Amino acid sequence: MSKQDYEAIIGLEVHAELSTKTKIFCSCKTTYGGRPNTQVCPVCMAMPGALPTLNEKVVEYAVKAGLATNCTISQDSKNDRKNYFYPDTPRAYQISQYDKPLCEHGYIEIDGDDGNKKKIRILRIHIEDDAGKLNHNEFGGGTLVDFNRAGVPLIEIVSEPDIRSASEAERYLKKLKSILEYIEVSDCKMQEGSYRADVNVSVHKKGEPFGTRTESKNMNSFRSIVREIDYEIDRQIDVVENGGVVTQDTLRWDDVSGKTFVMRSKENADDYRYFPEPDLVAIKLSTEYIENVKKSLPELPESRHERYLNEYNLSEKDAKILVSSKYLSNLFEEAGRMSGNYKAVSNWIISDISRILNEKEMEPNQIPFEAKHLANLVSLIDKGTISSKIAKDVLEEMFENPREPEEIIKEKGWIQISDEEEIKKIVQEILEANPQSIADYKAGKDRALGFLVGQAMKATKGKANPQMLNKLFIENMK
Ligand code: ADP
Ligand code: ZN
Ligand code: MG
Repeated sequence: MSKQDYEAIIGLEVHAELSTKTKIFCSCKTTYGGRPNTQVCPVCMAMPGALPTLNEKVVEYAVKAGLATNCTISQDSKNDRKNYFYPDTPRAYQISQYDKPLCEHGYIEIDGDDGNKKKIRILRIHIEDDAGKLNHNEFGGGTLVDFNRAGVPLIEIVSEPDIRSASEAERYLKKLKSILEYIEVSDCKMQEGSYRADVNVSVHKKGEPFGTRTESKNMNSFRSIVREIDYEIDRQIDVVENGGVVTQDTLRWDDVSGKTFVMRSKENADDYRYFPEPDLVAIKLSTEYIENVKKSLPELPESRHERYLNEYNLSEKDAKILVSSKYLSNLFEEAGRMSGNYKAVSNWIISDISRILNEKEMEPNQIPFEAKHLANLVSLIDKGTISSKIAKDVLEEMFENPREPEEIIKEKGWIQISDEEEIKKIVQEILEANPQSIADYKAGKDRALGFLVGQAMKATKGKANPQMLNKLFIENMK
């Protein structure tokens, strides 16, 4: 059989750290990057007798995430102990949720590989605490543990196995990340591990039951996830084609060799000896509470997308780019409102700003200037104070040293020449120096006009008003 006869099945378990100020069961701070073991207390270090208290904000954030992903919110939920020993888990159990998660049976919509909209179902979203961090290092060849992260709240979002390729997985993860950012429950900083995924992959022949899955844990880069999935699909097909069986293993992805390695064979729910957490009360949510959380949700990307098509006449493609990030979308709306020119603002974001972000390998939330600066840049072009060519230089400068564009152009002497007499003089000079172009133009070669305008722009370092140049060249060649 060939590869085409197989189908890949993928399910993702995403862990997102919630951006609450304090931990899930104590009042220690959750700030990232503090000195090791400075954000700890008897509860999150699991001293004997220390009791947990559930942080109400954690429930609220998880409910928000559930509502934003079309889940049913459970009014009767609880915490459970998940028992396992690992040196970064001081209690020797994690407080998670087993049979009664807070949110169930939702979905998010992505673009499927066939180009159609596709729903990826969400099985459940539950709350749990994060583990500490082991630092394997040279200190006598040993390992040190930092408990600052122990007890940072997590939501785990478990998808149904509805994803069929690495690219669908990537679109799902990006969409989910943008939703969590919009509703402000997680900062989703992948480098800091606050948005990470366990990747489950299996293959089967179409029409036959699903195959056995492997799972790669804690992956925090889109690129690695895509590579891991493609690698696993190929590897598993090879195993099956050679008469072998795929075993249900927990894997480790190695970015350097581009391969997966078996870490351990998979544990089952039984192994964890789940039981209801006796130190916490059940979580009972009233209909009114859920309604109130629902009312507090901001407008989500889907609805913004619709609005951009209808209100601002943007193309499907442009609207998609803008809403892909809360930061770009907010920048668009604010700068659009301030300048009154939504179309121009959208063009700047989609072309030049996106290009610069790419070149500098920056995320949209790292854009250093304010919406009003972009709005003012657009207005300066609209008023004819600067050409759009100069505006590109101003934008570069706004990234380097963010300030009012007006200040930048004054400082650099970049104001556009729109004085008719002055432009006439330039046009005369350029015409005198290029008689051949005049002849070409008269012979019907329109390109000659473009050349002359280009020469004038060069002579004025891009400062001449291009519309006026065009007009005056034509008049003077009659
Ligand atoms: P566990 O915590 O033991 O990994 P979960 O039920 O939390 O179990 O998650 C299982 C994940 O594996 C889900 O995302 C699910 O969609 C996915 N999954 C289940 N069956 C398959 C399969 N045959 N192939 C790929 N993924 C699967
Ligand atoms: Zn604590
Ligand atoms: Mg799993």
